[in-house]
Amino acid sequence: MSCLFHHWSAKLRAHLAPDTQQSAEVQDSLVKSLYASPASLMIGALAGGALSFVVAYHAGRAEITTIATLIFLVAVSRSISAVYFLRQLAHHEGPTQQAWGLAYELGAWGYAALLGLLAFSTLILTGDASLHILSVCLVAAYSGGIAGRNAGRVHIAVGQTCFALLPTSLGLCIAGGLGYWVLATMLFLMIFAMAEITRTTHRIVVEALQGNYEKSQLATKFERLARFDSLTGVENRMAMQMRLRELFDKRRSDQDSMAVFWMDLDRFKEINDSLGHIIGDQLLCTVAARLSHALDGRGHVARFGGDEFILICPGTDRAVAGEIAHDVMAEFGHDFDVSGYHLTVTASMGIAVAPEDGCDSEELLQHADMALYQAKRAGRNRHAHFDWAMKERQNRTYELEMGLRSAMANGELLLHYQPIFDTVTGKIAICEALMRWDHPTMGRISPAEFIPVAESCSLIEPITAWALEQACRDAMQWEEHVRVAVNISPALIKSDGLPRAVIAALMGSGLKAKRLELEVTESIFLEDSGRTSLILSELQRIGLRLALDDFGTGYSSLGYLRDYAFDTLKVDQSFMRSVGEEGRDRAIAQSVAYLAHSLDVETVAEGIETEEQLRYARELGFSNVQGFVLSRPMPAADLLTMMADMKREKSNVVTLMQNRRRA
Ligand code: C2E
Ligand code: MG
Ligand code: MG
Repeated sequence: MSCLFHHWSAKLRAHLAPDTQQSAEVQDSLVKSLYASPASLMIGALAGGALSFVVAYHAGRAEITTIATLIFLVAVSRSISAVYFLRQLAHHEGPTQQAWGLAYELGAWGYAALLGLLAFSTLILTGDASLHILSVCLVAAYSGGIAGRNAGRVHIAVGQTCFALLPTSLGLCIAGGLGYWVLATMLFLMIFAMAEITRTTHRIVVEALQGNYEKSQLATKFERLARFDSLTGVENRMAMQMRLRELFDKRRSDQDSMAVFWMDLDRFKEINDSLGHIIGDQLLCTVAARLSHALDGRGHVARFGGDEFILICPGTDRAVAGEIAHDVMAEFGHDFDVSGYHLTVTASMGIAVAPEDGCDSEELLQHADMALYQAKRAGRNRHAHFDWAMKERQNRTYELEMGLRSAMANGELLLHYQPIFDTVTGKIAICEALMRWDHPTMGRISPAEFIPVAESCSLIEPITAWALEQACRDAMQWEEHVRVAVNISPALIKSDGLPRAVIAALMGSGLKAKRLELEVTESIFLEDSGRTSLILSELQRIGLRLALDDFGTGYSSLGYLRDYAFDTLKVDQSFMRSVGEEGRDRAIAQSVAYLAHSLDVETVAEGIETEEQLRYARELGFSNVQGFVLSRPMPAADLLTMMADMKREKSNVVTLMQNRRRA
């Protein structure tokens, strides 16, 4: 028996110890479960109070009446506190769960003790068996009910059964008689039975709550993963799109403004490639933090992907958007310290503001992206506001891109040739191939417009291959000393495709390599990784001539003339334009011609439009001249006629001019 008692008391102690394993949320739910059903508390209070008064009435003893009154008062105050707790819970305010747990505990124990005391007093102060039965039944029924009801807090339930049953057992023992003694023993044992039931119920409740809690934690985690960018912690693309849509829907009127900024780091790939992805990732995190700092609560930051960020600022008009852009760009004014590296990073930004720049989230984003593209094109490290002209340009570019894909196959592309004359002999020395596109609906389109489009959509390679092939084939019909010049896009110089296309064109036509001249501009040296010079020297090795086109518009670095053995230097038309008027231009042009002569490099004065310019070009010592005053670009057949005429009439550039003057 004593062994059994030790076993149970140890269990009871274990139950009474606070359960530190449970999470705060589960503890909270357990306290809430105590107050979960104020109705059961009220029914218990009503039953307990009514029966106590019945016992007190029949017993006719002041002590019992006092206890019954106290029972009633405690019951009422507990019912009220339960309602109050639930109301506070609904308003998310009020004392902590520990305070409520303690209040419940004291109330419960007080109530149980009073019931126990009522039974005890009835048993020892009255001799009425029916009152004994009533009071003992009240306590037994209460204890039975409490085991389940208060399973959320094991020690409260166990305390309640002890406080209620122990005095009752004692009272039964004192009242005496075999039946009472047996009942006393049963009630005593009931404490342990009820404790076991409470413990089991508690375990089941806790497991269920814990399961629920873990499920909700998991759901929260997944929701976070779905909404936030795992690297930088700011919202991700999906959340950004949802937010933008919601903000649009929430706008009170169509006239409410909202700004969207699309930002992209300049040359982030280079940082990633040279310093590694870990540094790149850390940089992105720092950028995200700086963006949030710059916004300072004026909007939301999201990472669109890669090194692109989107900022959304509700209620922001164009003027305020400009200020925000200024603040954001200022963040890039100082270096980024990442793992010991001081990185100078710049960014470009496109801005679109509703309602003027777009009337839904998709359109606004698209326009901010378009503005970003403009900022990049304008030289990076700047911001650009969207304007509708950008959209028109883009639409036209798109149309050109679509058209270009089929232009070659449909025979819409053709080559015109502009002769370049030797200033000494006056004869045609070179013919420059200039591409033309006769679009079926848009008419003739300038190469200055469609060549950049071809470059941006990787069509420049097949187009150039075609031009090389066609030019070489046409040149085979000219006199042996006339060369053909083909313009080559800077982007193509780095590609392996160029030498292949050149060789195919030469082999296909049978043209000698020395009759083919490739015209390149200075921009090929801008992002030179060493590959450019390799390809250029390879092309020269097979006998091709290289011409530096538009000299004078770019950096005009003499370094290029030193490092690369160009065969021809074409001085840009803008340069030649004022040759006749201003002394400085004349001096520079003369020096270039002189320098080229010393380096044994041929020169071409481009864009000669007047006889005066022509005279000057010859005086300055240019070896060749090209321009409208001499000849406009013309179809291959017209060129052949011109060549034949010149040969027949033994004419040269001087007679050509005289003929023209006469005409
Ligand atoms: P570019 O290579 O500098 O060609 C000379 C441009 O100046 C040509 O314009 C020509 O028509 C024009 N021009 C010639 N003489 C005069 C003149 O006296 N006054 C004026 N105002 N202009 C003159 P075009 O044909 O419109 O070509 C423009 C540019 O397009 C070319 O400049 C070249 O960079 C590019 N391009 C033309 N064809 C091709 C090609 O097949 N491939 C590549 N990649 N680019 C090409
Ligand atoms: Mg050219
Ligand atoms: Mg040129």
